[in-house]
Amino acid sequence: MSDIPQERRVVTAIPGPKSVELQARRVAAVAAGVGSTLPVFTARAGGGIIEDVDGNRLIDFGSGIAVTSVGASAEAVVRRASAQLADFTHTCFMVTPYEGYVEVCEQLAELTPGDHAKKSALFNSGAEAVENAVKIARAYTKRTAVVVFDHGYHGRTNLTMALTAKNMPYKQGFGPFAPEVYRVPVAYGYRWPTGAENAGAEASAQAIDEITKQIGADNVAAIIIEPVLGEGGFIEPAKGFLPAIAQFAKDNGIVFVADEIQSGFCRTGQWFACEDEGIVPDLITTAKGIAGGLPLSAVTGRAEIMDAAHAGGLGGTYGGNPVACAGALGAIETMRELDLNGRAKRIEEVMKGRLAEMRSKLPNGDIIGDIRGRGAMIAIELVKAGTKEPDAAAAGALAKTCHGEGLLVLTCGTYGNVLRFLPPLVIGEDLLNEGLDIIEQAFARL
Ligand SMILES: *Cc1c(COP(=O)(O)O)cnc(C)c1O
Repeated sequence: MSDIPQERRVVTAIPGPKSVELQARRVAAVAAGVGSTLPVFTARAGGGIIEDVDGNRLIDFGSGIAVTSVGASAEAVVRRASAQLADFTHTCFMVTPYEGYVEVCEQLAELTPGDHAKKSALFNSGAEAVENAVKIARAYTKRTAVVVFDHGYHGRTNLTMALTAKNMPYKQGFGPFAPEVYRVPVAYGYRWPTGAENAGAEASAQAIDEITKQIGADNVAAIIIEPVLGEGGFIEPAKGFLPAIAQFAKDNGIVFVADEIQSGFCRTGQWFACEDEGIVPDLITTAKGIAGGLPLSAVTGRAEIMDAAHAGGLGGTYGGNPVACAGALGAIETMRELDLNGRAKRIEEVMKGRLAEMRSKLPNGDIIGDIRGRGAMIAIELVKAGTKEPDAAAAGALAKTCHGEGLLVLTCGTYGNVLRFLPPLVIGEDLLNEGLDIIEQAFARL
């Protein structure tokens, strides 16, 4: 593991001179369509710190978008992946298989909700997992329609662009999109017209009405939802919404798919966020936090559904790469040993406490319209004072001030007005509080 000191340190402007130089090379060589939140070039990272090429140490409230939950150089991940790297890098599981792949699938069967027989298939990215969940659901049901939700995010490939709600930047100019994808309302409590307390019942009734009247339940292969919506703004569907949708899927022979790519693997203080409402999905897609930073994703679910696709119908050259599988086994080992579910719950307690205090104490605290999220997946939604009008400029300005002080934070949300916090679950509580101090000071300077 990287022995990087767990201390914030700002010794140059952010970005510093070496990063600026690298950024010039990057602009010349890297396609403009690939953006970066903060053009600070990384030298090493671990625990709650990212150290840049200028020697600055940033507090990490991003985890590379909810990936490095165990840290970016976790001991067990580095040890297992290094050993695997020395043994062999690749054979292609579809040519000659290896144990690590099977072991990851066994772990997934054990960790995902439900005690039914389960199977998994491994891929490289989240989008690829979602695409394969759709393939499997269509093969199983022999139906074609796929239902997704307002504010949902499922990836950037052609099918997953169609499944994703937000146009800019994900879809603009990249169509036409895949057919047979239908979007219905989600219970966004903070913005539900009749109030959060009614959102669960009303939104699920509306969604079900649209599915039955506009699509026909018999035509629907899969309903795909993030149990906590990520890119859309860390929206927790209001209580009762997910169970109602899951029950509707069950009653109508529709495959219920939980996209836990961002919310899974201890991020919300449970192995999977859907456990909080006792939901047992037919299929679960995972990626991001699964492998300590190595590229790996999975579809896990009911054996009879997973087995519906014919041999050779699923796969890919690199899917379930042996080094990535070793990384996943190291990440899962770390999550169990350090009780990272417990850590995530503690992070929620600290963050929500401090953020609520800021809202009531700061002179401009009323621009914090909503504080929400679970575990180490926490966000604040910023609005114009006294209204619910989204204030993306405030979110951008706060993020920029934090970056200058050596705290990496990310924004998200359909309206771009959500500041989201995704610290590594192994972050020290001192760093966590120091990061929150910086956010508080950023409000004072807004
Ligand atoms: C990030 C994400 C994806 C896409 O994953 P990639 O690895 O970027 O393809 C899909 N679904 C959710 C919920 C995500 O957060």
